[in-house]
Amino acid sequence: MIRPISAEVYLKYRCAKCHCEWDKTLKEVKLLGGMICGGCETYSKFEPISEIRVTPIFSTETVKAPKQTQTNKQVELSDVKKDAISALISLGCGSKESREFVTTHEYDTIEEYITAAVKKG
Ligand SMILES: [Zn+2]
Repeated sequence: MIRPISAEVYLKYRCAKCHCEWDKTLKEVKLLGGMICGGCETYSKFEPISEIRVTPIFSTETVKAPKQTQTNKQVELSDVKKDAISALISLGCGSKESREFVTTHEYDTIEEYITAAVKKG
Protein backbone atom coordinates (compact mmCIF):
# COMPACT_ATOMS: atom_id res chain seq x y z
CA MET A 1 0.00 0.00 0.00
CA ILE A 2 1.16 3.50 -0.72
CA ARG A 3 0.22 6.78 0.81
CA PRO A 4 -0.36 10.08 -0.95
CA ILE A 5 2.56 12.48 -0.83
CA SER A 6 0.37 15.53 -1.20
CA ALA A 7 -3.21 16.60 -1.79
CA GLU A 8 -4.45 19.15 -4.26
CA VAL A 9 -6.85 21.62 -2.72
CA TYR A 10 -9.11 23.85 -4.70
CA LEU A 11 -10.14 27.05 -3.07
CA LYS A 12 -13.54 28.28 -3.97
CA TYR A 13 -14.02 32.00 -4.33
CA ARG A 14 -17.20 33.89 -4.93
CA CYS A 15 -17.18 37.17 -6.72
CA ALA A 16 -18.52 39.87 -4.40
CA LYS A 17 -20.21 41.65 -7.27
CA CYS A 18 -21.88 38.98 -9.43
CA HIS A 19 -21.59 35.98 -7.08
CA CYS A 20 -19.96 33.79 -9.73
CA GLU A 21 -17.90 31.02 -8.16
CA TRP A 22 -14.35 30.20 -9.17
CA ASP A 23 -12.02 27.40 -8.17
CA LYS A 24 -8.41 28.33 -7.62
CA THR A 25 -5.45 26.22 -6.62
CA LEU A 26 -3.34 27.32 -3.67
CA LYS A 27 -0.54 27.91 -6.17
CA GLU A 28 -2.70 30.32 -8.18
CA VAL A 29 -3.78 32.14 -5.05
CA LYS A 30 -0.21 32.54 -3.88
CA LEU A 31 1.18 33.52 -7.28
CA LEU A 32 -1.54 35.78 -8.56
CA GLY A 33 -2.73 37.37 -5.36
CA GLY A 34 -6.05 38.18 -6.96
CA MET A 35 -8.39 37.29 -9.79
CA ILE A 36 -10.42 38.94 -12.47
CA CYS A 37 -13.94 37.56 -12.38
CA GLY A 38 -14.82 35.87 -15.63
CA GLY A 39 -18.42 36.97 -15.26
CA CYS A 40 -18.22 40.67 -14.54
CA GLU A 41 -14.48 41.34 -14.93
CA THR A 42 -14.20 42.73 -11.43
CA TYR A 43 -10.77 42.38 -9.92
CA SER A 44 -10.72 40.92 -6.39
CA LYS A 45 -7.68 40.47 -4.20
CA PHE A 46 -7.26 37.15 -2.38
CA GLU A 47 -6.80 37.27 1.33
CA PRO A 48 -3.27 35.87 1.77
CA ILE A 49 -3.01 32.21 2.70
CA SER A 50 0.29 30.92 3.95
CA GLU A 51 -0.59 27.25 4.12
CA ILE A 52 -3.46 24.81 3.91
CA ARG A 53 -3.03 21.52 5.69
CA VAL A 54 -4.85 18.45 4.53
CA THR A 55 -4.22 15.48 6.73
CA PRO A 56 -5.59 12.15 5.61
CA ILE A 57 -6.92 9.92 8.33
CA PHE A 58 -5.94 6.43 7.30
CA SER A 59 -8.32 3.64 7.97
CA THR A 60 -6.92 1.32 10.59
CA GLU A 61 -9.69 -1.18 10.26
CA THR A 62 -8.99 -3.91 7.78
CA VAL A 63 -11.78 -4.85 5.45
CA LYS A 64 -13.71 -7.65 7.04
CA ALA A 65 -15.66 -10.28 5.25
CA PRO A 66 -19.36 -9.97 5.92
CA LYS A 67 -20.33 -11.80 9.06
CA GLN A 68 -21.64 -15.21 8.21
CA THR A 69 -25.12 -15.85 9.40
CA GLN A 70 -25.35 -18.77 11.71
CA THR A 71 -26.57 -21.75 9.79
CA ASN A 72 -25.93 -24.43 12.34
CA LYS A 73 -28.54 -22.96 14.64
CA GLN A 74 -30.34 -25.56 16.69
CA VAL A 75 -33.61 -26.29 14.99
CA GLU A 76 -36.56 -25.92 17.32
CA LEU A 77 -38.38 -29.22 17.35
CA SER A 78 -42.12 -29.39 17.14
CA ASP A 79 -44.08 -30.93 20.02
CA VAL A 80 -44.82 -34.00 17.89
CA LYS A 81 -41.11 -34.52 17.29
CA LYS A 82 -40.24 -34.01 20.95
CA ASP A 83 -42.91 -36.53 21.99
CA ALA A 84 -41.82 -38.95 19.28
CA ILE A 85 -38.27 -38.84 20.60
CA SER A 86 -39.40 -39.60 24.16
CA ALA A 87 -41.72 -42.34 22.88
CA LEU A 88 -38.89 -43.98 20.95
CA ILE A 89 -36.60 -43.74 23.97
CA SER A 90 -39.27 -45.35 26.16
CA LEU A 91 -39.52 -48.15 23.59
CA GLY A 92 -35.87 -48.84 24.13
CA CYS A 93 -34.21 -46.87 21.36
CA GLY A 94 -31.09 -44.92 22.23
CA SER A 95 -31.70 -41.22 22.89
CA LYS A 96 -29.18 -40.16 20.27
CA GLU A 97 -30.61 -42.55 17.67
CA SER A 98 -34.19 -41.54 18.47
CA ARG A 99 -33.40 -37.87 18.10
CA GLU A 100 -31.52 -38.47 14.88
CA PHE A 101 -34.36 -40.52 13.40
CA VAL A 102 -37.02 -37.99 14.31
CA THR A 103 -35.09 -34.94 13.12
CA THR A 104 -34.32 -36.55 9.77
CA HIS A 105 -37.87 -37.77 9.07
CA GLU A 106 -41.09 -35.88 8.52
CA TYR A 107 -44.28 -37.40 9.89
CA ASP A 108 -47.44 -35.87 11.26
CA THR A 109 -47.99 -38.07 14.29
CA ILE A 110 -45.99 -39.83 16.98
CA GLU A 111 -47.47 -43.15 15.86
CA GLU A 112 -46.08 -42.68 12.36
CA TYR A 113 -42.63 -41.98 13.76
CA ILE A 114 -42.80 -45.08 15.92
CA THR A 115 -44.12 -47.27 13.10
CA ALA A 116 -41.41 -46.02 10.74
CA ALA A 117 -38.70 -46.43 13.38
CA VAL A 118 -39.84 -49.93 14.24
CA LYS A 119 -39.97 -50.93 10.56
CA LYS A 120 -36.45 -49.54 10.19
CA GLY A 121 -35.43 -51.70 13.11
ZN1 LIG B 1 -18.06 38.76 -10.90
